[in-house]
Amino acid sequence: MKYHKRVSSENNFEQCIKCTICTVYCPMLEVNPLYPGPKQAGPDAERYRLKDPQICDEALKYCLNCKRCEVSCPSGVRIGDIIAIAKAKSRHGHSVRDRLLSGSDSMDGVVASVAPALNSLLEKKSVRRFMDRCLAIDERRPMPKYASERFSSWFRKSAQREQEGFGKYVTYFHGSYVNCNYPELGKEFVRILNAVGYGVRLMDDERYCGIAKISSGLLRQAERDAERNVEAIRKEVAEGRRVIATSPSCALVMREEYQHILGIDNSDVKNYISLSTRFLYRLWERGEIKLAFKEDYHRKVAYHSACHMEKLGWVLYSTALLRLVPGLELVMLPSQCCGMAGFYGYKKENYDFSQAIGEKLFERIRQTGVDTVVTDCETCKWQIEMSMGLEVMNPITLLAEAIDFEKTRDLNQNK
Ligand code: SF4
Ligand code: SF4
Repeated sequence: MKYHKRVSSENNFEQCIKCTICTVYCPMLEVNPLYPGPKQAGPDAERYRLKDPQICDEALKYCLNCKRCEVSCPSGVRIGDIIAIAKAKSRHGHSVRDRLLSGSDSMDGVVASVAPALNSLLEKKSVRRFMDRCLAIDERRPMPKYASERFSSWFRKSAQREQEGFGKYVTYFHGSYVNCNYPELGKEFVRILNAVGYGVRLMDDERYCGIAKISSGLLRQAERDAERNVEAIRKEVAEGRRVIATSPSCALVMREEYQHILGIDNSDVKNYISLSTRFLYRLWERGEIKLAFKEDYHRKVAYHSACHMEKLGWVLYSTALLRLVPGLELVMLPSQCCGMAGFYGYKKENYDFSQAIGEKLFERIRQTGVDTVVTDCETCKWQIEMSMGLEVMNPITLLAEAIDFEKTRDLNQNK
């Protein structure tokens, strides 16, 4: 069934002043002559779509939902949102692939219990070829590895009891990546928060943020999860806790897309949703926490600004936090899309565009000569690791490596 809910972004196209600035910043327009670009696919075409909802532009599928056009627009047009809604409304049904890649909270427990076997199965050439031919998941793209214990299970079993007795608390929104693929990041977050005097809680009923569903046009399913998340976040906020994510895409979708794309009123809680690096840096800046670092720590890394960090305007917090590490040499990469855009780069029809977009970034990374890249986004990490064979870390992972935990705990004991 088609999605017909009307949301606030639909009339936002009227703000377009036709300056064409957005066309300069669209990474897809640069590599794909079939894509009309943000101005034409967004505000220009929206006028026609409103007159005739049957109008369906196949080229909309190329949009990465990177939001670089929105960052550049001087007039506040929510171009990416307009395109995402139009794309979802023009779809007739959804493929098995899109449903599979969009994930399901209910399958996680099963996936974790068979993770080692599933990981080795997904590495087999024959399986990848099968997925390429039958599901249109490109065989050149390795699937992310699954962890054999979900972060949420680890937390409830091994960390929950240790969270008692803190005077201050935050609620951690772990999302699907930390829960299923990389629980280490969640563990590092908990360790750092505890060291600076904060206890960590999880929401009773966290659903995945829904960005993969929104990107695949599964808006009805995304809406169901979003409604439950907003309710759960409301409860946390009512009890005086902020909700902190380690994924910028989770933070962005919960703060902005729930309202702009799914039409869910989250205005009472959206400002209580933040990102780990922003939360920590602001505490440090106000003198509310102290951080001590290992004296012998040395690393040279390049920082890549993920598209959704640019959209949030929060690159500054991650880089400022990293600059506190005395032994760290930080090289800033120019702002450039990596081409991955969540599961977009997994789809066979997108793979070549994804790599063509990423190539500019890869070249800049090569020029720095670093062997480690730091980025806040998990799927930028997959893209750079796969395409360049480099180590890619979240800023929280680097902090956990550089912090002297004993000294940090001592410094924050009386705070
Ligand atoms: S969201 Fe990204 S890919 Fe889509 S139109 Fe905007 S800049 Fe281009
Ligand atoms: S940058 Fe904004 S105002 Fe300018 S053409 Fe694009 S959508 Fe319109």
